[in-house]
Amino acid sequence: MTTANLLDFDLEGLAAFVETLGEKRFRATQLFRWIHQRGESDFDRMSDLAKSLREKLKTAARIEALPVITRNDSADGTIKWLFDVRDGNAVEAVFIPEDDRGTLCVSSQAGCAVGCRFCSTGHQGFSRNLTTGEIVAQLWFAEHFLRRHLKTSERVISNVVMMGMGEPLQNYSALVPALRTMLDDHGYGLSRRRVTVSTSGVVPMMDRLGQDCPVALAVSLHAPNDELRDNLVPLNRKYPLAELLDACNRYLEHAPRDFITFEYCMLDGVNDQPEHARQLIDLVRHHAGRGVSCKLNLIPFNPFPQSGLTRSPNTRVTAFAKLMSDAGIVTTVRKTRGDDIDAACGQLAGDVKDRTRVGERIALQRTVILKPVTSIAGTKET
Ligand code: SF4
Repeated sequence: MTTANLLDFDLEGLAAFVETLGEKRFRATQLFRWIHQRGESDFDRMSDLAKSLREKLKTAARIEALPVITRNDSADGTIKWLFDVRDGNAVEAVFIPEDDRGTLCVSSQAGCAVGCRFCSTGHQGFSRNLTTGEIVAQLWFAEHFLRRHLKTSERVISNVVMMGMGEPLQNYSALVPALRTMLDDHGYGLSRRRVTVSTSGVVPMMDRLGQDCPVALAVSLHAPNDELRDNLVPLNRKYPLAELLDACNRYLEHAPRDFITFEYCMLDGVNDQPEHARQLIDLVRHHAGRGVSCKLNLIPFNPFPQSGLTRSPNTRVTAFAKLMSDAGIVTTVRKTRGDDIDAACGQLAGDVKDRTRVGERIALQRTVILKPVTSIAGTKET
């Protein structure tokens, strides 16, 4: 008999499941708390559940963790796990400790179909969407592992960023119950402001997320004009910048924060010139006559051989950040973490049984890539 994986359910879904067992809906709250707040997977140990319910659960349900293939610990405290998601696929999650927070970066797909030029995951192609249970299992495992590891009963993970492998908004139906579980006071009780969905710009799903489950939003921008963004983030051909920024403004009507975070990966000689900064300022300040309320996060590129791209020198990143800040746009440069275990941004690259022809696609893109810097910026940098 197939059993239900209870990690697949948000509280509402669990209540409906419990009803199918002939139990009252409120039992689901107790069960949900045992699973997510206490990390329990053995029904026999859920001592305040009626014995009759525990017996039913033992035959109808399971709490299925993802097998850990490897764990890597960085000298800076970052921890990366590689989880087995069957059929030759594996996904990664990364814990990043900081003084005032603990952030878990979570994957939403085995691979990714968007195929961004600068992203290791994008170069691996796409196998399949993760289930809600597989998304939640990354947090479930990491939170309770870390509590044991750090010998604390306090919550360790305060922030979740959906910035691991995959485009979360292309796995919308699994994503939303996972987010609800993260936010639920009987689950992880995370603040909406501390759960961030990162998207490359799936415009219709941004609108739906704003309605269904508004959380903080990060948009992978990476270019200040359509010509360049078409090449770096292929989804731009479907949802160009003007549509994307309109969607950002609509999202802000529902968002828990009053700004969108724009992610901008700094690529040497590609998108890091003063002219790009000027275009970006113009875009975010004047789009549709009112601009977009935003913060800009500049990300040092983590090179990998197939990309054909290199990291912008620090001096250029600093100069770019200064131009943006001088224009009144709050700009940060992301600290790289977990470099020694390949856990930094854009380096997550589990194992993907690719079902797309991403290699061919990206090779084709590379043949049409990127004008020389002189023709974009008008000045040549050294
Ligand atoms: S940056 Fe995000 S959307 Fe683009 S290929 Fe990588 S995982 Fe996919």
